[in-house]
Amino acid sequence: MTDGGITILGVFVADTAYRAERQPRLGETILGKSFVLGPGGKGSNQSVAAARAGGRAAIITRLGKDAFAELAIKTWADAGVEPLVTHDPDSYTGAAYIFIEEATGDNAIIISPGAAAKISTSDVDAHADRIARSSVFITQLEQPMDAAEHALGIARNGGAITILNPAPAAPVSDAMLALCSYVTPNETEAAEITGQTVETIDQARQAAEIFMRKGVGAAVITLGERGALIHGKDISEHVPAFSAGPVVETTGAGDAFNGGFAVALSEGRHPVEAVRFGCATAAISVTRPGTAPSMPARGEIEALLA
Ligand code: ATP
Repeated sequence: MTDGGITILGVFVADTAYRAERQPRLGETILGKSFVLGPGGKGSNQSVAAARAGGRAAIITRLGKDAFAELAIKTWADAGVEPLVTHDPDSYTGAAYIFIEEATGDNAIIISPGAAAKISTSDVDAHADRIARSSVFITQLEQPMDAAEHALGIARNGGAITILNPAPAAPVSDAMLALCSYVTPNETEAAEITGQTVETIDQARQAAEIFMRKGVGAAVITLGERGALIHGKDISEHVPAFSAGPVVETTGAGDAFNGGFAVALSEGRHPVEAVRFGCATAAISVTRPGTAPSMPARGEIEALLA
């Protein structure tokens, strides 16, 4: 019997964003224009999105024992996410250096996943019961692949709906895809995994067919401002994006979508309705700055869908 909960296996990183006129050269020090510290990492963002959207969300991950770990714990406490965390005394909490060029807004990023790079099958086994009784299990490709595949297998055997958000883009084995009720790639990730160019909605449908031949239940391909396509055995529908106001920042739109989609599925909604719920969640998030802080509350999503 599943319990209505949503379990997320994934990564937290502290995003440290520096704005400056240009990048320093090797050996050089320059003054920046501004600095922002914020919670990031796809798994963490998705857990916050799910909890804010009304889901009972828990995150399985690894952190260090440092100030950024405290930021992670506070972020989840504020959102109502249950932390299923291993604190690794021999490593550090993941962090991302984000340089933003003042004039263009272009960025250059270094991610150091730290403790999260050591997420293992034993971390998954430590929470196997929780994964097995979840209604929905979701993971991404930021942590080691073997842990993700192991957790998908446990979730599948327990009867959970399994979602793989295959981001960032990387090759995924057919064995792993066969464990997925849904995959939720964007256009780039869908193209990387299927080898099918994805620029039009028809091409997204063809990519979805390839996912299905690899054993996926249905593919949900997110299409930015064009919304999302869901395509499976008995289902094929393009859901247009919602407009919730002027777009401020689209970073994290995919995470908002996945969090919302997972919540609606955990409540037993029809998959097309779940895609609409995910699109509405993401549409509100893009009208606000930041990633985790931009995730909307349940009432806001309901109001947009009404
Ligand atoms: P990111 O990497 O920026 O987090 P992504 O590439 O993973 O995003 P997208 O396909 O760009 O994911 O967007 C995810 C969902 O967010 C889309 O399916 C859509 O519903 C919503 N969305 C994205 N951009 C917009 C927009 N400009 N207006 C409204 N909704 C949007």
